[in-house]
Amino acid sequence: MSKQQEPQPIILPRDQHGVSRKQIDEDTLKVLYRLHRNKQLAYLVGGSVRDMLLGRKPKDFDVGTDATPSQVRRLFRNCFLVGRRFRLAHIRFAGNKLIEVATFRRHPREDELPDDPDEHFHFVQNVFGSPREDAYRRDFTINALFYNIADFSIIDHVGGLEDLRAKRIRMIGDPLIRFEEDPVRMLRALEFATRLNFTLDPAILEAIEQKKELIATAAPARIREEIIELYRHKVAGPVLKQCRELGMLPHLLAGYPGTDESIELIAKIDQRTASGVPIEEAFAIAALYLRLFMDNCPPSPQVPITEALHKANEIIIPHCRYFSIAQGIRHQARELLVGCFRLARGRGIRGERRFLQHPFTPNALELFKLWAEVRPDLEPLAKEWQKTLKTPPAQKEPTRKRPRRRRKRKPSPQPKSS
Ligand code: ATP
Ligand code: MG
Repeated sequence: MSKQQEPQPIILPRDQHGVSRKQIDEDTLKVLYRLHRNKQLAYLVGGSVRDMLLGRKPKDFDVGTDATPSQVRRLFRNCFLVGRRFRLAHIRFAGNKLIEVATFRRHPREDELPDDPDEHFHFVQNVFGSPREDAYRRDFTINALFYNIADFSIIDHVGGLEDLRAKRIRMIGDPLIRFEEDPVRMLRALEFATRLNFTLDPAILEAIEQKKELIATAAPARIREEIIELYRHKVAGPVLKQCRELGMLPHLLAGYPGTDESIELIAKIDQRTASGVPIEEAFAIAALYLRLFMDNCPPSPQVPITEALHKANEIIIPHCRYFSIAQGIRHQARELLVGCFRLARGRGIRGERRFLQHPFTPNALELFKLWAEVRPDLEPLAKEWQKTLKTPPAQKEPTRKRPRRRRKRKPSPQPKSS
């Protein structure tokens, strides 16, 4: 298509929208201005524009430009080029702060693709294009809006402004094709609908129905990152619930079908995160598998702890292997599961004193208390453990101090008199 025929975007001038420079991070503004002064296009792109238009505080600000990564590097002393999959310029500011500057990209044409199919993925991510092409390669219309520092306008190539008004998640292009290209977009669709309280375009839901199995073909590292995002945004419970209802959960989580109870427990974790407690991956993994573990290893004083440890390992190892989760996190998740097993057995079992002093026990009790919110029959026990753990050990079982016996000193050998 020639330049003259290219459809024009909707441009919302400064006086017709509420995005103000006061909402934009200072260092990001510096980056935008310097690009602009050097005759480059300089836009805010992606989630930050969406969030500011919605009156929300953006998590981060990404910059889009027509300058190539090496041109960006020449403009900024504090700039590093990063990324194999997606070449980006990182501009560093005080306090380890990073601002991402990406050159506008486009979908390559079939005839441009390299012969080796293994190289397609990297290639596809790194073909530079126009702002319009860059908007079209993004996922949802509301994620493809631009804020232009040249005149403070909002640029909309894809109908994102209308969808923001209608509170609707709509795919750019045909959802069936876009999910085939990148199945992680299915999870992102559910995530954004829940995070923003928007409705999902029916075409997206239909396409998920048809393509849900494909999520298993996505790189596990990306799924893992996207799932952590769900927890960070406190929507893991509702989104995983929806994945389960849509039949996507086992394809997402290496065959794990989930249980109602684990999903409810995860919703409790979301509430805990909302109250300011940061999310830890081990905690999330333990919660996900807690019910399954308890079904496989019903808490009883007769079951030796070594067996519980073995069962816990058996349950979480497939997940940890699939997502390449570090040994340390796996160990913590296992300790949390076994901690809950010991708590569920009740009080007065041999080894209790040592268990109460174990460094993992307070965290296991945190999980156990959340579990008790889902399973009220466990609540009295959770309260009792909480009381016991709060009491300092000296008051729990006063130990009689035996007077220390003085060891008799051996008489030191007398120096021989010469
Ligand atoms: P937030 O950072 O608040 O979670 P975001 O919209 O910024 O939301 P990111 O994951 O940071 O989301 O991605 C930045 C932008 O990159 C998105 O807004 C979207 O335009 C684009 N994007 C991200 N992932 C994809 C994808 N899988 N397919 C197409 N575009 C994507
Ligand atoms: Mg972002």
